[in-house]
Amino acid sequence: MSTYFSETQGSEQETVASLKDLLYRMPHPFREGDAVGVKLHWGERGNHSYLPPVYAREIVRWLQENGARPFVFDTTVLYSGGRRSGKDSLETAAEHGYTKDFLGCEVVIGDGLEGSDVVDIPCSLKHFPTVQAGAVVNRAEGFVIFSHFKGHLGAGFGGAIKNISMGFASRAQKQRMHADAYPSLMEKRCTRCGICVDVCPTGAARISDGEFPTYDLERCIGCAQCIGQCPVMALKIFFSGDSSVFQEKLVETAAAVWRRIDKKTVLINALVRITADCDCLPGKAEIISPDRGFIGGYHPVTVDRASLERVGEGLITGTHPHVPWQRQFTFAREIGFFPSGGGKLIHHK
Ligand code: SF4
Ligand code: SF4
Repeated sequence: MSTYFSETQGSEQETVASLKDLLYRMPHPFREGDAVGVKLHWGERGNHSYLPPVYAREIVRWLQENGARPFVFDTTVLYSGGRRSGKDSLETAAEHGYTKDFLGCEVVIGDGLEGSDVVDIPCSLKHFPTVQAGAVVNRAEGFVIFSHFKGHLGAGFGGAIKNISMGFASRAQKQRMHADAYPSLMEKRCTRCGICVDVCPTGAARISDGEFPTYDLERCIGCAQCIGQCPVMALKIFFSGDSSVFQEKLVETAAAVWRRIDKKTVLINALVRITADCDCLPGKAEIISPDRGFIGGYHPVTVDRASLERVGEGLITGTHPHVPWQRQFTFAREIGFFPSGGGKLIHHK
């Protein structure tokens, strides 16, 4: 299973040429007429270091030239900002240039405009009996996982593993990864709409006419459906303090999603605009490395490992010294989320 590297030469135009070179050297599993989802992150509203859409357009063109029917997607997120609802997220995408006109294909929300178009994938590894992802995971014949490789506050680095994990996850699954997800109501915000009660799978959430909802923590399984689906964010999020557990949950979610998309997926990490933190944060993030180019491959662990080697593990550790990001790789091996065979790196300037 080979990994491909294409070095970038500097300007945006040359960087696009470098991506194009990579794409046309990589074998792919797509057939004529396949619907192929391009999973990417178009940046939070106010963020300045997201990948500009010229790269996604190049991937779309490559897929179209190969007879596929591409579409671009991301999923809704937990926090307030420009991507919490699908509608807001599409507006943010358009503000950042990710439009049908520019890309040449549809731009969609993988878990639906309300964040409720989701599926449960059996998992049963260490943390989750099931992993909940956007239904898009079942709605395409293939995927291109296009990830902006950079630092990340919670994960140390963000690349292909994180894009498959957090990137495909429903809002509830995102919350399950982030925390012990027991709800705590902020009455000032609550509109008493009852949605949290409707989505609660155990009957732990209850509401009486005109009253605020209550949550029976004896029955609550911490699934975070209520927190993820509350339209006004009236339920408080508890964050876990153990970062190693977060690394494991991140990888476990990626492993479950990967079971659905393995063999029909190409992964590309963009090692450009390498910032200390992720594109979820508004503002201008600090650039911590010169542009390196693009790494392509067929397993997220391999592609992220190759990206780390190219950027330098010391850079990530130095940027986020308290994050045990190495646990992602040891845990991946423990649960069998690892590519078979060694493979080789095919370099091209
Ligand atoms: S979904 Fe949110 S706003 Fe609606 S009742 Fe539950 S906590 Fe209140
Ligand atoms: S976390 Fe899950 S089980 Fe607990 S109250 Fe919310 S929806 Fe119900």
